[in-house]
Amino acid sequence: MLKGKTALVTGASRGIGRAIALEFAQNGADIAIVYAGNTEKAEETKRDCESFGVKAGAYRCDVSDYNEVKATVAAIKADLAAPDILVNNAGITRDGLIPVMSEDAFDAVIATNLKGAFNLIKSCCPFFIRAKAGKIINISSVSGLTGNAGQTNYSAAKAGLIGLTKSAARELASRGITCNAIAPGFIETDMTKSIDNTEKIIGTIPMGRFGSAEEVAKTALFLASAAADYITGEVIRVDGGMAM
Ligand code: NDP
Repeated sequence: MLKGKTALVTGASRGIGRAIALEFAQNGADIAIVYAGNTEKAEETKRDCESFGVKAGAYRCDVSDYNEVKATVAAIKADLAAPDILVNNAGITRDGLIPVMSEDAFDAVIATNLKGAFNLIKSCCPFFIRAKAGKIINISSVSGLTGNAGQTNYSAAKAGLIGLTKSAARELASRGITCNAIAPGFIETDMTKSIDNTEKIIGTIPMGRFGSAEEVAKTALFLASAAADYITGEVIRVDGGMAM
């Protein structure tokens, strides 16, 4: 389905990003794995992608740093090819109620989860525009749709990502480039491991369970494929019906 394409997936060392990288590799895409610091896990994703017979590379890069992102995208172009698909998945949480949330916690989440996506889109755009094609997929969250107490930083970043998705979709549509978002609900990854009120949360999910990273990855594959060529500016919830 993605044979001959190169996909850049941020936050692909673990969790949802890793599942997206593997799903795309299984469908024939070469994969650039961007990660923050977990080299062991990134190398593991790289090997697992390569086991599907595609090329893969692991790139340590802080997505919130524009110059680092620019250099990383140039390295990916030199090693693999210019990206055809960009998945902005890297994300962090620094939760806390407003009275106790530090300025640093607010800034860090906005810088990684929102500005990071801008940095990647800006760096990949020239290639997409030249090719008159490109697929951008931003991993938002239901927190960006409904808000979530204790997550003002995270919800603001994820809601911002939806605004960014729609604006980029409008700007780039005439160039053959699509830009869509996925809003996952509760997905079983390291990020949700420490949640202690699981039973209460499950009670708010019509499907009665957390989702898997693979279920998000299959939605990303759809958005990256020709089946979604006429879809842009869309936000697809993958949340078991939680935020409908
Ligand atoms: P994980 O915590 O499991 O993985 C986070 C990934 O992001 C890791 O690969 C990490 O790299 C990378 N990363 C973090 N900061 C940076 C940075 N500054 N630069 C580059 N890479 C970075 O997260 P999930 O898989 O759970 O989440 C993935 C995305 O999905 C996030 O954007 C999250 O907000 C979103 N999401 C998750 C939900 C969930 O329930 N899990 C629900 C809704 C949305 P390293 O391994 O090197 O640290």
